[in-house]
Amino acid sequence: MQLSTKLIHGGISEDPLTGAVSVPIYQTSTYRQKKLGQPGDFEYSRSGNPTRLALEELIAELEGGVKGFAFSSGLAAIHATLSLFQPGDHLILGDDVYGGTFRLLEKVFKPFGLSYTMVDSRELSQLENALTNHTKALYLETPSNPLLKIIDLEKSVVWAREHELITIVDNTFATPYLQQPLILGADIVLHSGTKYLGGHSDLVAGFATTNNESLAEKIAFYQNSIGGVLGPQDSWLLQRGIKTLAVRMEAHQRNAGILASYLAAHSGVAKVYYPGLADHPGHEVAARQMRGFGGMVAFELVDESRTAEFVESLKVITLAESLGGVESLIEVPAVMTHASIPQEKREASGIKEGLIRLSVGIEDITDLQTDLEQAFAAALREETAE
Ligand SMILES: *Cc1c(COP(=O)(O)O)cnc(C)c1O
Repeated sequence: MQLSTKLIHGGISEDPLTGAVSVPIYQTSTYRQKKLGQPGDFEYSRSGNPTRLALEELIAELEGGVKGFAFSSGLAAIHATLSLFQPGDHLILGDDVYGGTFRLLEKVFKPFGLSYTMVDSRELSQLENALTNHTKALYLETPSNPLLKIIDLEKSVVWAREHELITIVDNTFATPYLQQPLILGADIVLHSGTKYLGGHSDLVAGFATTNNESLAEKIAFYQNSIGGVLGPQDSWLLQRGIKTLAVRMEAHQRNAGILASYLAAHSGVAKVYYPGLADHPGHEVAARQMRGFGGMVAFELVDESRTAEFVESLKVITLAESLGGVESLIEVPAVMTHASIPQEKREASGIKEGLIRLSVGIEDITDLQTDLEQAFAAALREETAE
């Protein structure tokens, strides 16, 4: 079955009981036991719920995993995954991971004895330098957030295996439609389901999936023990959203490619970050390991001091955190999504104060381009008026 068919028919896509072509929302916390001490397949909805199970089987199938786990947020999925480690363990982390991942490690796990080193994970020499006797895992995000850095997954996995580390990949930006890290050798894939998988900016959710039975058993244990599970309503919404992932991703990346070229040619723009541009340093690796370049674009204005005026002047494109919805969203990471990372750390990883991140939606491209054009005009007009 091709991936775009799996999006619709993968996992458990119907109700086995009634034949309903949409899995019902099993809005229940508990299940009748016919005999004392012999529960059926479901016992209590934190441990398992049929609507959530249908979604979990789907994400596992899409990523090529043996088991999938759905959580109440991306961070809950990351929390359960980081719980695999013990005090004293050390992780190596890409240097522009999602701000919340950094905060979780720094403020929650570090006080309990987990340590980490952030490096430019594109450089094997930096990975080597960060390695200690206690290093247990390599944690990567590609394309990264917000700089769209591309990490060669196959090369990283080979290195991690040599050092007996597990590789964890946050695949939120690419989705399994564009990239399947487990198939490239990674051990655990994480997602914020809030973004492209949900696709409509109407829910918060997360996923973990693995192709390793022993890791699956442990993640299942932490999912149930910590308890950040996804409810049946949101599980259903996600399954509904995933059905259109292929058409949405194609539309996102078509628009993103056009806007990236438009921005790159604009005299008001100093720099554009988009892996689909031939001069992006990760272009060739992205072309090899991804089926497309995705819907995220970042850029800097020539005059950084006009950043606020520019983003505030947009009318169709919404100034908001988050990404991956059908509507275009724009934000300034240093002030918004990445504000929890100290400025020195942000700057060291290349995130300038004026960097703008654009999640390109699936609106008509003419409306998006016209909106950017009028915002450039407005931001520059105010400058000459002062
Ligand atoms: C949003 C995001 C997360 C966190 O997910 P939530 O659903 O907001 O908890 C993790 N990783 C990446 C790359 C994200 O964009």
